[in-house]
Amino acid sequence: GGLDELDAHLIRCRACPRLVAWREEAGRTRRAAFRDWQYWAKPVPGFGPPDAALAVIGLAPAAHGANRTGRMFTGDASGDFLFAALHAVGLASRPGATHRGDGLELYGVRITAPVHCAPPQNKPTPDERTTCRPWLAKELELLAPSLKAVVALGAFGWQTLLPVLQDTGRPLPRPRPAFAHGAHLVLPGPGDGPPLHVLGSYHPSQRNTFTGRLTSAMLIDLLTRAASLAGL
Ligand code: SF4
Repeated sequence: GGLDELDAHLIRCRACPRLVAWREEAGRTRRAAFRDWQYWAKPVPGFGPPDAALAVIGLAPAAHGANRTGRMFTGDASGDFLFAALHAVGLASRPGATHRGDGLELYGVRITAPVHCAPPQNKPTPDERTTCRPWLAKELELLAPSLKAVVALGAFGWQTLLPVLQDTGRPLPRPRPAFAHGAHLVLPGPGDGPPLHVLGSYHPSQRNTFTGRLTSAMLIDLLTRAASLAGL
């Protein structure tokens, strides 16, 4: 089966009791601004074409962001910041998401996460990260024929992604490379396959964007570099 089939299985996953409860609770309580929304409240699949050359990988959906919209990295300020940058680089059809039928498309990029359900305080437990790992490993295996580069957003995203890449047959250097904005790893294989470029980027969280730790110019630069490594 392909990515559609994987996603169809993923959205029925209930393997993490704490996260199942949290994602559904957020859908019941809602935020005043989203009173009229029917929350997605299920695992959020990757968003973007099945033959993407670049993957952008966060950590987990936000309770009132992607857990509400059902589209990875949409519906919150971080997502708006990321999509504005993707659009500036020519990788997204619009600078942000508005509603489910808004025609938002990604070109050559798939946005996904190593944990597919919204966690309390945006912090999955180590067990939850381990439990969700095979979903991303499978997704990356299905993308492997076209995938040339990956951007990991934030230190947690980076630390959670690297073991998943190892699971897909790409040995990691030792010691395990540390996260930094602009960190660049080139991982061989699997087999005789082409190498995969892995770039680290500060997460577009409000903590980073409000303080100017991550500016739009910095994110646009980094995505431009990633797109070029991916041949986009
Ligand atoms: Fe399933 Fe992953 Fe959600 Fe856990 S986080 S319930 S493994 S989809």
